[in-house]
Amino acid sequence: MNRVVNIGRLKVGGSNPVRIKAMLKTPIEDTKRLIREAKRLEKEGAEALRVAVKQRADAGIVRILSQHISVPLVADIHFDYRIALEAIKEGFPGIRLNPLNISRKKEVKEIIRAAKDNGVSIRVGVNSGGFRKNFSSPCVMAKAMVREAKKYIRYLEREKFFDTMVSFKGSDINTTIQANRIFSAKETYPLHLGITATGPFLEAVVKSAIGQGILLKEGIGSVMRVSLTAPSFWEVRVAKSILQSLDLRRFGPEIISCPTCSRCEVDLIKIVSRFKRELEKTKLNKPLRIAIMGCVVNGPGEACQADIGAAFGKSKAVIFRKDKIIRRSTESRVIGDLLEEIKRLNQLTG
Ligand code: SF4
Repeated sequence: MNRVVNIGRLKVGGSNPVRIKAMLKTPIEDTKRLIREAKRLEKEGAEALRVAVKQRADAGIVRILSQHISVPLVADIHFDYRIALEAIKEGFPGIRLNPLNISRKKEVKEIIRAAKDNGVSIRVGVNSGGFRKNFSSPCVMAKAMVREAKKYIRYLEREKFFDTMVSFKGSDINTTIQANRIFSAKETYPLHLGITATGPFLEAVVKSAIGQGILLKEGIGSVMRVSLTAPSFWEVRVAKSILQSLDLRRFGPEIISCPTCSRCEVDLIKIVSRFKRELEKTKLNKPLRIAIMGCVVNGPGEACQADIGAAFGKSKAVIFRKDKIIRRSTESRVIGDLLEEIKRLNQLTG
């Protein structure tokens, strides 16, 4: 089992659930919008927020944001060790350092001393983009990333600092997976997972789900951040969806619906997307399985294996609770009927 490291009150690693981190995207100068984004991300389910602190004068943002949110903040620092010192002084409970651009021993030593004195944890984050050279293969790059991180960690250890998390993020899945595997085979520091620079939305979601999913399934990773070239709340939603799909955490109901085919005689795509919107409005956070299926081939089976399920035939649907038929419905009524049954089940189960 890997060790437990704190980011403020948040425990990461050990037997704790895989945590979800998000990164703020609004420029610090636009404080009002930044606060709005932070509050939204906390509401979506982010358990720690990272903010890029580009200059010493920006480090005070931790005090402002902390008045509006209760999740811990991590300062993302590059190039200048004095920004890290300022971030610690201002009260960030965690900082991220890049071994590829803050590496002078004397400077790192100063950061360690300040972090120790203030109970601040450090993430040693190595990204593929931090190297200014080409590698012959993902494996060679992965090894180089691990080498850099280990060198840094050994220095932190010599200075008796152990509140360390580590991340290896490549813009491709293979490099990321290999680096995390190589590192976790020998080290016990908690790993922060992520694929970086993932590209447009759809491709990014697929890459993140495959890359992080494979590692999580192997038991590797204590905290995750999904990186999307998209508004930040999507990153939290995708992270939650990955964790829920792997059954590592449950955040709310799961909809099981078929892809439809020429057997389907209702507009199931429309029904499911409307149902999802309506279900979200209920703010139900119980991990119910709700099936909505297009025909009798797999419909009754999936519907009766779910907590609540609807299986369509010819424009009519049968609604199941567990494996019992509890009512009949139609294409136009099914969303309301399902929501009513979900509410009833929710009341029954408390
Ligand atoms: S459940 Fe029926 S409609 Fe849906 S994909 Fe399967 S066969 Fe097609």
